[in-house]
Amino acid sequence: MKFGTKAVHAGQAPDPSTGAIMTPIYQSSTFVQSAPGKHQGYEYARTGNPTRTALEANLAALESGGHGICFSSGLGAMDAVIRLLKAGDHVVCCDDVYGGTYRLFTQVFARFGMEFTFADMADPAAVERAVTPRTRMVWIETPTNPLLKVLDIRRIAALARERGALAVVDNTFATPYLQQPLNLGATIVVHSLTKYLGGHSDVIGGAAVTDDGDLAKRLHAIQNAVGAVPGPMDCFLVLRGTKTLHVRMARHCENAGRVARFLEDHPRVGRVHYPGLPGHPQHALAAEQMTGFGGMVSFELADDSLQRAAAFCTATRVFSLAESLGGVESLVEHPAIMTHASIPKDVRESYGLRDGLIRLSVGIEDADDLVEDLGRALETAHR
Ligand SMILES: *Cc1c(COP(=O)(O)O)cnc(C)c1O
Repeated sequence: MKFGTKAVHAGQAPDPSTGAIMTPIYQSSTFVQSAPGKHQGYEYARTGNPTRTALEANLAALESGGHGICFSSGLGAMDAVIRLLKAGDHVVCCDDVYGGTYRLFTQVFARFGMEFTFADMADPAAVERAVTPRTRMVWIETPTNPLLKVLDIRRIAALARERGALAVVDNTFATPYLQQPLNLGATIVVHSLTKYLGGHSDVIGGAAVTDDGDLAKRLHAIQNAVGAVPGPMDCFLVLRGTKTLHVRMARHCENAGRVARFLEDHPRVGRVHYPGLPGHPQHALAAEQMTGFGGMVSFELADDSLQRAAAFCTATRVFSLAESLGGVESLVEHPAIMTHASIPKDVRESYGLRDGLIRLSVGIEDADDLVEDLGRALETAHR
């Protein structure tokens, strides 16, 4: 079955008791048994809920994995994946990683005796140098956030495997429509469902997908033991989102490409970070590893001024100033002050995240209006 058909149908059959074509929101905490221990597959809704089961099967199909395990947020999913490890284990993580992931690793799990090394994975040799005999996991996020570097999943995952470490890919930015890490050698894919998979800025959720039955069993056990599960209404909302993922992503890519080219040609704009631009350092890798370049664009103003960047963020009218990304509506944000504030300034600057950087989540509105809005805001910011 091809992607668009799986997006609409995988994991969902008409409800057997009523024929409802949409998977119902099973808003029930417990399920009646006909005799002690005799039930229809569901006992207690932390352990399992039919709406969640449908979403887990849908996501597994989209990522070409056998097993999906859902959580109450993206960080909930990432927390569960890190819990596969134990004290003394070492993780190599890409440096330009989602701020919340960095915080989870350095502020929570480092206290439990796990060690984390952050490396510039755009250079696979840097991964090799960072790996130690205790490395049990290599954490890849690509394209990276907010600098949109593209990391070579096939190469880094092979290196991880060779050293006996799990290769985990945070596929939130690309989505399975544009990039399928399990087919490139990764062992686990993690997602913030809050972003493109939900797609409408109305739900928080997370997921892990793997083709490894043993790891899936362990992740299901962690899901049940720790309890960061999504509610059935949230699962329903994400299921509604994934049905249009392929249609939305095509438009996100088209609009982001138009925005990136517009910014690149604009005299008030400095560097533009977008994997679809021929001048992007990993453009060729992105073209090979992904089937499109995504909806995220970041850029610096030509004079790299913090004040002007902040002024720009409040001058747009179609782009709303807000954290998050991946919804149908366009958003603008300032990483150094907003999403990445939990990363110390010297650490941020050491890998190129400057105070003047602006990040756009390009939505699916009419591209003419988006470009006009950005042009007007650039002029306003320079008054
Ligand atoms: C948002 C995000 C997360 C965290 O997900 P939540 O749903 O907010 O917990 C993790 N990784 C990336 C790349 C994200 O964009």
